[in-house]
Amino acid sequence: MRIDGSFGEGGGQILRTSLSLSVLTGQSVEIFNIRAKRKNPGLQKQHLVCVEASQKISGAKVSGASLNSNFLRFEPKDIRPGKYEFDIGTAGSTTLVAQTILLPLAYSHRPSEISIIGGTHNPLAPPFHYFNEVFLKILEALNLKIKANLEKWGFFPKGGGKIRLFIKPSEIKTKNFLERGELKEISGLSAVSNLPLSIALRQKESLIKKIKQYNLPLNGNPEIEIKIEEAKTFSPGTFLFLKLIFENNLIAGFSSLGKIGKTAEKVAEEVAEELKEYWFSKKVLHYYLADQIILYLALSKKPFAFTTSKITNHLLTHIWLLQKFLNLKISVNLEKKEVSLK
Ligand code: ATP
Repeated sequence: MRIDGSFGEGGGQILRTSLSLSVLTGQSVEIFNIRAKRKNPGLQKQHLVCVEASQKISGAKVSGASLNSNFLRFEPKDIRPGKYEFDIGTAGSTTLVAQTILLPLAYSHRPSEISIIGGTHNPLAPPFHYFNEVFLKILEALNLKIKANLEKWGFFPKGGGKIRLFIKPSEIKTKNFLERGELKEISGLSAVSNLPLSIALRQKESLIKKIKQYNLPLNGNPEIEIKIEEAKTFSPGTFLFLKLIFENNLIAGFSSLGKIGKTAEKVAEEVAEELKEYWFSKKVLHYYLADQIILYLALSKKPFAFTTSKITNHLLTHIWLLQKFLNLKISVNLEKKEVSLK
């Protein structure tokens, strides 16, 4: 199969999902114009580790896997579950590498244990706490059996964080996400590393203050529980995470990272704004979650439907690729913000 990596958003998702589905289905792929619409096009370190990991778990024959390459040929043999360790060598996202290999390993016949070294809390990628407490929890609701541990935090620029995944063989049972149900819990985490703990406290207080202004209907469960954590890392950093847990196994998560010159209050404001946008959209899946679980929903080719707070270009690009790979027709209703397979 030939895949144009410049289609739609033209980013790394086309590469990652192509690798997942290639390993899973045994279909060889050639991807050209890789990440053509990014300002650093071609394969970067994180993407090369996605290729390396996919190659190791499938015994694939690979050509084109070098830094900045915009072409890759990938011919998998079979799925090889087992114990592996992958080191990105930079602060590249460990969770994006994990997402590339999770699906084929979950669909294999034996358990796997995977360690990935790199960044664990990165901008523009799922932070570990989101990955573990939102993404994996939704996959669990879809019947996948994957557990993850954060062994060491890793912030930009040095990375050096480590996550470990335990994957048991299982198969997806698809599900609709058309009702949020009642809100049961609001909780989260405010963390600092190699910086004063007072920053974590300010992030927390400022976020709680902003959330209270929104008057969310909490049904007798008014506490907002945000834990404080001090992590040890190679690079200093701060992190703020909040999740809403609804009945029906639905979770929505929002997060932000600190950086030099950005106040704790600004970090809190970013999380609060994300939450507000999601809450008042009245839709079910937050848009990041929608673009991350569409692969799992589409895979079984059984009917599904969900609404999302935003139909992003990322989601539409992902849908284009899934349709091409899995030979199905996914409907997108832009007005209702509903995505379905009939
Ligand atoms: P690249 O930048 O390598 O080309 P890409 O194009 O796939 O990769 P993005 O479009 O930025 O990169 O998205 C990467 C993924 O990370 C998406 O699936 C998105 O949902 C997820 N993501 C980004 N930020 C967050 C966040 N704050 N919380 C959860 N998920 C996130």
